Amino acid sequence: MVRQVLSVASECLGLVKTGGLADVVAALPGALAGQGWAMRVLLPAYPGLAARLAGATEVWADANLFGGPARVLAGRAAGLDVLLLEAPHLYDRPGGPYSGPLGDHADNAERFAALGWAAAEIARHGTAEGWRPEILHAHDWQAGLAPAYLRYGPPAAVRSLVTIHNIAFQGIAPARKLADLRLPGAAFHPDALEYWGNISTLKAGLVTADAITTVSPTYAAELMRPEYGMGLEGVIARRAAEVHGILNGVDTGLWNPESDPDIHPYSARAISGKARNRQELLKEFGLGEVPGPLAVLVSRLTWQKGIDLLPEVLDDFVAGGGGLAVLGSGDAPLEAALLAAAARHPGRVGVRIGYDEGLSHRMFAGGDAVLVPSRFEPCGLTQMYGQRYGAIPVVAGTGGLADTVIDASPAALTAGAATGFVFRPVDVLGLAQALRRLLALHADRRAWAMVRARGMKADFGWDRPAAAYAALYARLLA
Ligand code: ADP
Repeated sequence: MVRQVLSVASECLGLVKTGGLADVVAALPGALAGQGWAMRVLLPAYPGLAARLAGATEVWADANLFGGPARVLAGRAAGLDVLLLEAPHLYDRPGGPYSGPLGDHADNAERFAALGWAAAEIARHGTAEGWRPEILHAHDWQAGLAPAYLRYGPPAAVRSLVTIHNIAFQGIAPARKLADLRLPGAAFHPDALEYWGNISTLKAGLVTADAITTVSPTYAAELMRPEYGMGLEGVIARRAAEVHGILNGVDTGLWNPESDPDIHPYSARAISGKARNRQELLKEFGLGEVPGPLAVLVSRLTWQKGIDLLPEVLDDFVAGGGGLAVLGSGDAPLEAALLAAAARHPGRVGVRIGYDEGLSHRMFAGGDAVLVPSRFEPCGLTQMYGQRYGAIPVVAGTGGLADTVIDASPAALTAGAATGFVFRPVDVLGLAQALRRLLALHADRRAWAMVRARGMKADFGWDRPAAAYAALYARLLA
C-alpha cells in the first residue's frame, strides 16, 4: 500500500532555490517513493510557477486568506507532484522568495502563515479530489506554523514533523500580529510560540509538531547547546526524545564524475582523467602551475561559512605549494578580502564572485581538495560532492561535516578509513594546521591516493536517509 505525505516548503530545486533546503525538498519525493511513500510538495506560487504546472487542477480554495483570495493547484512540475498555493496578494511580486528590490518583504509573516494554513487545512480535510496525507512534513520557519495550526485547531488524524535545515532563521514576527495570523492568545507564551516578546514561527513548529528532525546527527546534538541552538536550545533539549538527526543525501545522478556533462569524465578506477579537469580549471581561474594541492571552495560567503579565516592562512598554504580557487557570493567585506588575497597571490589564488552551477561542477572535478571551514553547518553538501569527485575535504568538525568526513588520523590512515581532514576549534590556527596536514598528505602519493579513493567510494545517496524518514513516519503513526 502506498501511503501519502504532504511536504511543505518555501523552496524546491528546479522551481525556486536559494540554498540547500531546495535540494532536499526536491530529492525527498523520489527517495521516499522507494520506501512506499508518495510525497506531494506544497509551495507558494511565486511569479511564473503556475504556468509551469502540467495538468493543473484546483484542489482547495479560500476566499480570504490573509487579505485576498487563494487557491491550491495540483499538477506536475520539475518531475514532482506539486501543490501550488496561488495567492497573488502575497506571492505575485518581483524578487526572490523572501525579499524584493527593497529588502525582506514586510509581510513575510502573513506570506508564510498562509502556506502553513493551507497545509494544515489540506492535511486535516484533504483536497477537493479526495487526497489526504497521513503525515505533514514541514520544513524550516517558513512552514513552522503548519503543525501549529493543526495543534491549535480541531483534532486531526494527521501526524506532523518539522525539519530544521538551519536554526539561524527563526521566522520572527511582532506579537501584535498574533490574531491576524489566526493564532490563539494562549499560544503567546514562552512554553509555546513566544520568543522574547515576539512570535517565532520556527519555535511554533518545534513545540507543536509530533517530531523534530534535523539534517545530521551531530547538528541534532549541537542544537541542544547554547553555542549552536541560537536561543532555541532549551526548546529542543526539552523534546530530546523526539529529535532525530537524519543526514541529507546528495543527488548521485547529478553529481557523478563518470557521467557529468560539465566535465571530462573519470572514475575512481580511471582517475587519470581528473588531471585534465585540473589543468582546465587552473586556466579558467587564470592560475599558473600549482605544485601542491589545488583546493577549491564553493559557498555562500558569510561568517557562518568561516570565510574570514581563509585570507589569514593563505600565505602559509601557498608557500607550502598549495593553490586555491573560490566561487561564491555574499557579504561585501568577505568578497573584498578574498579578492585582495587573490591579488596578493597572483597565479596561485583565484576568486570568482557569482553563482554558477556549471563552474561548481568543474571545480570539484578539477580540485584536489575542497575546503569547508564553517563555524556551524547543519549538513553541508560540498564536502560530499568533493569526495565523489576525488577532491579531499578539509572541514570544520561541526554538524554534518563531522558526520561525513573521517579524519586522516594515524589510526584511520592505518585502517584505510580516512577520507579527509576534520579540524576544531574552528579558528585560524585550526584551519592552518589542517592545511599543513593536507600538504603533508599530498607529499605522500600512496597515502593521498588511498584517502581520495576511499572518499570516492563513500555512499552519500538518498536510500539510507529515505529509509530513516520512512521509519520515522511509520513510528509517528504507530
Ligand atoms: P547552504 O545551504 O548553507 O548554502 P549547503 O552546502 O547545504 O550550504 O548547500 C549549498 C549549495 O549551493 C551546494 O549545492 C553548493 O554547491 C551550492 N552553491 C553555493 N554557492 C554557489 C555558487 N556561488 N555557485 C554555484 N553553486 C553554489
